[in-house]
Amino acid sequence: MVHLFARDTIYRLASVALLVLLSPCKLGLTESPPFTIITTTNIIADTARSIAGTIPGTAAETEGGTGIVITPLMREGVDPHTYKPSPGDLRALSQASLILFNGLHLEGKMADVFEKLSKRQPVVAVTDSIPQDRLRSTSTIAVAHDPHVWFDVSLWILASERIRDALSEYNPAHKAGYHSRFAALRERLIALDLWCASELRTIPQDSRLLVTSHDAFGYFGAAYDIEVLGVQGVSTDSEASLRDINNLVRTLSMRRIPAVFIETSVSPKMVEALVEGARAQGHAISIGGTLFSDSLGSPATPEGTYEGMVRQNVTTIKKALSRGK
Ligand code: ZN
Repeated sequence: MVHLFARDTIYRLASVALLVLLSPCKLGLTESPPFTIITTTNIIADTARSIAGTIPGTAAETEGGTGIVITPLMREGVDPHTYKPSPGDLRALSQASLILFNGLHLEGKMADVFEKLSKRQPVVAVTDSIPQDRLRSTSTIAVAHDPHVWFDVSLWILASERIRDALSEYNPAHKAGYHSRFAALRERLIALDLWCASELRTIPQDSRLLVTSHDAFGYFGAAYDIEVLGVQGVSTDSEASLRDINNLVRTLSMRRIPAVFIETSVSPKMVEALVEGARAQGHAISIGGTLFSDSLGSPATPEGTYEGMVRQNVTTIKKALSRGK
Protein backbone atom coordinates (compact mmCIF):
# COMPACT_ATOMS: atom_id res chain seq x y z
CA MET A 1 0.00 0.00 0.00
CA VAL A 2 2.75 2.37 1.02
CA HIS A 3 4.60 1.38 -2.09
CA LEU A 4 1.55 2.10 -4.28
CA PHE A 5 1.02 5.52 -2.67
CA ALA A 6 4.64 6.42 -3.31
CA ARG A 7 4.32 5.46 -6.99
CA ASP A 8 1.14 7.54 -7.29
CA THR A 9 2.93 10.55 -5.80
CA ILE A 10 5.83 10.11 -8.21
CA TYR A 11 3.43 10.02 -11.17
CA ARG A 12 1.68 13.16 -9.95
CA LEU A 13 4.95 14.97 -9.46
CA ALA A 14 6.07 13.87 -12.92
CA SER A 15 2.91 15.25 -14.55
CA VAL A 16 3.32 18.57 -12.71
CA ALA A 17 6.92 18.72 -13.92
CA LEU A 18 5.71 18.06 -17.48
CA LEU A 19 3.14 20.85 -17.19
CA VAL A 20 5.88 23.22 -16.06
CA LEU A 21 7.95 22.27 -19.09
CA LEU A 22 5.05 22.62 -21.51
CA SER A 23 3.66 25.96 -20.33
CA PRO A 24 6.30 27.76 -18.31
CA CYS A 25 4.79 31.22 -18.81
CA LYS A 26 1.30 30.28 -17.66
CA LEU A 27 2.66 28.92 -14.45
CA GLY A 28 4.84 31.98 -13.99
CA LEU A 29 7.87 29.93 -13.11
CA THR A 30 10.30 31.09 -15.80
CA GLU A 31 8.83 34.51 -16.62
CA SER A 32 11.37 37.31 -16.70
CA PRO A 33 10.46 41.00 -16.74
CA PRO A 34 10.39 42.60 -20.22
CA PHE A 35 13.43 44.48 -21.47
CA THR A 36 12.02 47.99 -21.64
CA ILE A 37 13.52 50.57 -23.97
CA ILE A 38 12.42 54.20 -23.68
CA THR A 39 13.35 56.46 -26.60
CA THR A 40 12.89 60.19 -26.91
CA THR A 41 11.73 60.56 -30.54
CA ASN A 42 9.48 58.14 -32.41
CA ILE A 43 12.14 58.09 -35.15
CA ILE A 44 14.55 56.31 -32.79
CA ALA A 45 11.72 54.03 -31.56
CA ASP A 46 10.88 52.93 -35.11
CA THR A 47 14.50 52.11 -35.93
CA ALA A 48 14.95 50.27 -32.62
CA ARG A 49 11.81 48.24 -33.44
CA SER A 50 13.21 47.32 -36.86
CA ILE A 51 16.34 46.01 -35.16
CA ALA A 52 14.58 44.37 -32.19
CA GLY A 53 11.94 42.77 -34.44
CA THR A 54 9.02 44.02 -32.40
CA ILE A 55 5.65 45.41 -33.39
CA PRO A 56 4.37 48.68 -31.83
CA GLY A 57 2.06 48.29 -28.84
CA THR A 58 3.10 46.80 -25.50
CA ALA A 59 1.01 43.64 -25.67
CA ALA A 60 2.02 42.80 -29.24
CA GLU A 61 5.66 43.38 -28.43
CA THR A 62 5.71 41.00 -25.50
CA GLU A 63 3.41 38.47 -27.18
CA GLY A 64 5.72 38.59 -30.18
CA GLY A 65 8.05 36.56 -28.02
CA THR A 66 10.95 38.97 -27.89
CA GLY A 67 10.21 40.18 -24.36
CA ILE A 68 11.21 43.68 -25.48
CA VAL A 69 8.96 46.71 -25.14
CA ILE A 70 9.93 49.93 -26.95
CA THR A 71 8.15 53.17 -26.08
CA PRO A 72 8.85 56.68 -27.40
CA LEU A 73 8.26 59.57 -24.99
CA MET A 74 7.39 61.93 -27.86
CA ARG A 75 4.38 61.07 -29.95
CA GLU A 76 3.66 62.30 -33.50
CA GLY A 77 3.90 66.04 -34.04
CA VAL A 78 5.85 66.69 -30.84
CA ASP A 79 8.79 69.12 -31.01
CA PRO A 80 11.86 67.59 -29.30
CA HIS A 81 13.74 70.91 -28.97
CA THR A 82 11.28 72.31 -26.45
CA TYR A 83 10.00 69.05 -24.93
CA LYS A 84 10.06 68.90 -21.14
CA PRO A 85 9.58 65.48 -19.52
CA SER A 86 6.43 65.01 -17.42
CA PRO A 87 6.52 63.32 -13.99
CA GLY A 88 5.19 60.19 -15.73
CA ASP A 89 8.04 60.36 -18.26
CA LEU A 90 10.59 60.63 -15.46
CA ARG A 91 9.09 57.58 -13.75
CA ALA A 92 9.18 55.56 -17.01
CA LEU A 93 12.75 56.68 -17.69
CA SER A 94 13.94 55.71 -14.22
CA GLN A 95 12.49 52.19 -14.66
CA ALA A 96 13.80 51.61 -18.22
CA SER A 97 16.28 48.85 -19.01
CA LEU A 98 17.81 51.10 -21.69
CA ILE A 99 17.29 54.74 -22.70
CA LEU A 100 18.00 55.80 -26.29
CA PHE A 101 18.11 59.49 -27.16
CA ASN A 102 19.28 61.42 -30.23
CA GLY A 103 21.91 63.65 -28.65
CA LEU A 104 23.65 66.68 -30.23
CA HIS A 105 21.28 68.79 -28.09
CA LEU A 106 18.17 67.78 -30.03
CA GLU A 107 16.46 67.18 -26.69
CA GLY A 108 17.56 70.59 -25.42
CA LYS A 109 15.51 70.52 -22.21
CA MET A 110 16.49 67.01 -21.14
CA ALA A 111 20.29 67.18 -20.88
CA ASP A 112 20.27 67.29 -17.05
CA VAL A 113 17.86 64.37 -16.84
CA PHE A 114 20.09 62.16 -19.03
CA GLU A 115 23.15 63.24 -17.10
CA LYS A 116 21.56 62.14 -13.81
CA LEU A 117 20.08 58.89 -15.14
CA SER A 118 23.33 57.84 -16.82
CA LYS A 119 24.93 57.46 -13.38
CA ARG A 120 22.74 54.48 -12.58
CA GLN A 121 21.33 52.97 -15.80
CA PRO A 122 22.24 52.58 -19.50
CA VAL A 123 21.65 55.85 -21.40
CA VAL A 124 22.88 56.00 -25.00
CA ALA A 125 22.98 58.88 -27.49
CA VAL A 126 22.44 57.17 -30.85
CA THR A 127 24.46 59.83 -32.71
CA ASP A 128 27.58 59.40 -30.60
CA SER A 129 29.28 57.08 -33.09
CA ILE A 130 28.96 59.48 -36.05
CA PRO A 131 32.43 60.86 -36.89
CA GLN A 132 32.80 64.57 -36.04
CA ASP A 133 33.76 65.43 -39.60
CA ARG A 134 30.38 64.22 -40.84
CA LEU A 135 28.48 66.54 -38.49
CA ARG A 136 27.29 69.98 -39.60
CA SER A 137 28.54 72.83 -37.47
CA THR A 138 26.10 75.58 -36.55
CA SER A 139 26.51 79.26 -35.88
CA THR A 140 24.56 78.89 -32.62
CA ILE A 141 26.78 78.88 -29.53
CA ALA A 142 24.43 76.70 -27.49
CA VAL A 143 24.25 74.01 -30.18
CA ALA A 144 27.64 73.07 -31.63
CA HIS A 145 26.32 70.61 -34.21
CA ASP A 146 23.11 70.24 -36.17
CA PRO A 147 21.24 67.32 -34.54
CA HIS A 148 18.96 66.42 -37.52
CA VAL A 149 21.19 63.61 -38.81
CA TRP A 150 18.29 61.30 -39.80
CA PHE A 151 17.70 63.30 -42.98
CA ASP A 152 20.92 61.98 -44.49
CA VAL A 153 19.96 58.32 -44.73
CA SER A 154 23.63 57.27 -44.85
CA LEU A 155 24.16 58.95 -41.44
CA TRP A 156 21.07 57.28 -40.01
CA ILE A 157 22.63 53.93 -40.93
CA LEU A 158 25.45 54.83 -38.51
CA ALA A 159 22.94 55.76 -35.79
CA SER A 160 21.09 52.48 -36.44
CA GLU A 161 24.35 50.61 -35.98
CA ARG A 162 24.75 52.33 -32.60
CA ILE A 163 21.22 51.20 -31.66
CA ARG A 164 22.11 47.62 -32.66
CA ASP A 165 25.24 47.73 -30.49
CA ALA A 166 23.37 49.17 -27.49
CA LEU A 167 20.69 46.47 -27.73
CA SER A 168 23.38 43.78 -28.08
CA GLU A 169 25.33 45.07 -25.11
CA TYR A 170 22.45 45.42 -22.67
CA ASN A 171 20.26 42.53 -23.88
CA PRO A 172 22.85 40.05 -25.21
CA ALA A 173 20.46 37.08 -25.33
CA HIS A 174 19.08 38.43 -28.63
CA LYS A 175 22.37 39.63 -30.12
CA ALA A 176 22.25 37.36 -33.19
CA GLY A 177 18.74 38.58 -34.06
CA TYR A 178 19.75 42.22 -33.66
CA HIS A 179 22.67 41.73 -36.03
CA SER A 180 20.68 39.93 -38.73
CA ARG A 181 17.78 42.40 -38.62
CA PHE A 182 20.21 45.33 -38.71
CA ALA A 183 21.86 43.82 -41.80
CA ALA A 184 18.45 43.69 -43.53
CA LEU A 185 17.62 47.25 -42.39
CA ARG A 186 20.99 48.50 -43.67
CA GLU A 187 20.26 47.04 -47.12
CA ARG A 188 16.86 48.78 -47.20
CA LEU A 189 18.37 52.09 -46.07
CA ILE A 190 21.12 51.94 -48.71
CA ALA A 191 18.40 51.43 -51.35
CA LEU A 192 16.36 54.28 -49.82
CA ASP A 193 19.37 56.62 -49.92
CA LEU A 194 19.89 55.88 -53.63
CA TRP A 195 16.18 56.34 -54.32
CA CYS A 196 16.18 59.77 -52.58
CA ALA A 197 19.14 60.89 -54.71
CA SER A 198 17.60 59.73 -57.98
CA GLU A 199 14.16 61.26 -57.22
CA LEU A 200 15.55 64.64 -56.13
CA ARG A 201 17.99 64.86 -59.04
CA THR A 202 15.05 65.65 -61.35
CA ILE A 203 14.17 68.96 -59.60
CA PRO A 204 15.18 71.81 -61.99
CA GLN A 205 18.42 73.57 -61.05
CA ASP A 206 16.80 77.00 -60.51
CA SER A 207 14.22 75.55 -58.08
CA ARG A 208 16.62 73.69 -55.83
CA LEU A 209 15.96 75.79 -52.73
CA LEU A 210 14.12 74.20 -49.81
CA VAL A 211 12.61 76.68 -47.33
CA THR A 212 10.97 75.20 -44.23
CA SER A 213 9.86 76.27 -40.74
CA HIS A 214 13.16 75.54 -39.00
CA ASP A 215 16.62 74.53 -40.12
CA ALA A 216 16.06 70.76 -39.91
CA PHE A 217 17.03 69.84 -43.47
CA GLY A 218 20.72 70.82 -43.57
CA TYR A 219 21.95 67.22 -43.77
CA PHE A 220 19.22 66.47 -46.31
CA GLY A 221 20.36 69.36 -48.51
CA ALA A 222 24.03 68.39 -48.26
CA ALA A 223 23.31 64.74 -49.05
CA TYR A 224 20.98 65.35 -51.99
CA ASP A 225 22.36 68.62 -53.35
CA ILE A 226 19.58 71.06 -52.46
CA GLU A 227 20.16 74.46 -50.90
CA VAL A 228 18.28 74.73 -47.61
CA LEU A 229 17.09 77.72 -45.58
CA GLY A 230 15.01 77.57 -42.41
CA VAL A 231 12.91 80.43 -41.06
CA GLN A 232 14.13 79.51 -37.57
CA GLY A 233 17.57 78.10 -36.73
CA VAL A 234 18.50 74.49 -35.98
CA SER A 235 16.46 74.69 -32.78
CA THR A 236 12.87 75.94 -32.59
CA ASP A 237 13.79 77.38 -29.20
CA SER A 238 14.47 80.84 -30.68
CA GLU A 239 12.37 83.31 -32.65
CA ALA A 240 13.13 84.42 -36.21
CA SER A 241 13.60 88.16 -36.59
CA LEU A 242 11.60 90.30 -38.97
CA ARG A 243 14.82 90.95 -40.86
CA ASP A 244 15.39 87.19 -41.37
CA ILE A 245 11.86 86.86 -42.75
CA ASN A 246 12.25 89.84 -45.09
CA ASN A 247 15.57 88.47 -46.38
CA LEU A 248 13.96 85.11 -47.10
CA VAL A 249 11.01 86.76 -48.88
CA ARG A 250 13.45 88.66 -51.11
CA THR A 251 15.40 85.47 -51.96
CA LEU A 252 12.24 83.50 -52.74
CA SER A 253 10.82 86.28 -54.93
CA MET A 254 14.04 86.97 -56.81
CA ARG A 255 14.63 83.31 -57.59
CA ARG A 256 10.94 82.63 -58.38
CA ILE A 257 10.91 79.59 -56.06
CA PRO A 258 7.47 77.92 -56.50
CA ALA A 259 6.89 76.61 -52.96
CA VAL A 260 7.82 76.68 -49.29
CA PHE A 261 7.03 74.01 -46.72
CA ILE A 262 5.55 73.74 -43.25
CA GLU A 263 6.51 71.07 -40.73
CA THR A 264 4.34 68.80 -38.62
CA SER A 265 6.15 69.58 -35.37
CA VAL A 266 6.42 73.37 -35.76
CA SER A 267 3.78 76.14 -35.92
CA PRO A 268 3.08 77.16 -39.58
CA LYS A 269 2.85 80.89 -38.71
CA MET A 270 6.33 81.90 -39.91
CA VAL A 271 6.01 80.09 -43.22
CA GLU A 272 2.59 81.65 -43.79
CA ALA A 273 4.21 85.05 -43.23
CA LEU A 274 6.70 84.21 -46.00
CA VAL A 275 3.90 83.36 -48.43
CA GLU A 276 2.12 86.65 -47.69
CA GLY A 277 5.36 88.61 -47.95
CA ALA A 278 6.25 87.09 -51.33
CA ARG A 279 2.73 87.71 -52.65
CA ALA A 280 3.01 91.36 -51.60
CA GLN A 281 6.10 91.52 -53.80
CA GLY A 282 4.16 90.04 -56.75
CA HIS A 283 5.52 86.50 -56.48
CA ALA A 284 2.75 83.93 -56.02
CA ILE A 285 4.36 81.24 -53.91
CA SER A 286 2.43 78.30 -52.49
CA ILE A 287 2.75 76.06 -49.47
CA GLY A 288 4.17 72.93 -51.07
CA GLY A 289 2.94 70.64 -48.34
CA THR A 290 3.73 69.49 -44.84
CA LEU A 291 7.06 67.84 -44.15
CA PHE A 292 7.80 65.49 -41.29
CA SER A 293 10.86 66.97 -39.65
CA ASP A 294 11.53 65.99 -36.03
CA SER A 295 8.70 63.48 -35.66
CA LEU A 296 7.17 60.64 -37.67
CA GLY A 297 3.49 60.58 -38.69
CA SER A 298 0.76 58.64 -36.91
CA PRO A 299 1.34 54.96 -36.21
CA ALA A 300 -0.23 52.65 -38.83
CA THR A 301 0.26 55.19 -41.64
CA PRO A 302 3.13 54.90 -44.17
CA GLU A 303 4.78 58.03 -42.71
CA GLY A 304 4.55 56.47 -39.25
CA THR A 305 7.82 54.66 -40.04
CA TYR A 306 11.26 56.17 -40.67
CA GLU A 307 11.46 54.78 -44.19
CA GLY A 308 7.90 55.85 -45.05
CA MET A 309 8.50 59.33 -43.61
CA VAL A 310 11.61 59.86 -45.75
CA ARG A 311 9.76 58.68 -48.88
CA GLN A 312 6.79 60.94 -48.13
CA ASN A 313 9.03 64.01 -47.64
CA VAL A 314 10.99 63.37 -50.84
CA THR A 315 7.78 62.92 -52.86
CA THR A 316 6.27 66.15 -51.42
CA ILE A 317 9.45 68.20 -52.07
CA LYS A 318 9.98 66.87 -55.60
CA LYS A 319 6.36 67.52 -56.62
CA ALA A 320 6.16 71.06 -55.20
CA LEU A 321 9.56 72.30 -56.41
CA SER A 322 9.09 70.87 -59.90
CA ARG A 323 5.75 72.67 -60.32
CA GLY A 324 5.41 75.04 -63.29
CA LYS A 325 8.90 74.25 -64.61
ZN1 ZN B 1 14.50 70.30 -35.25
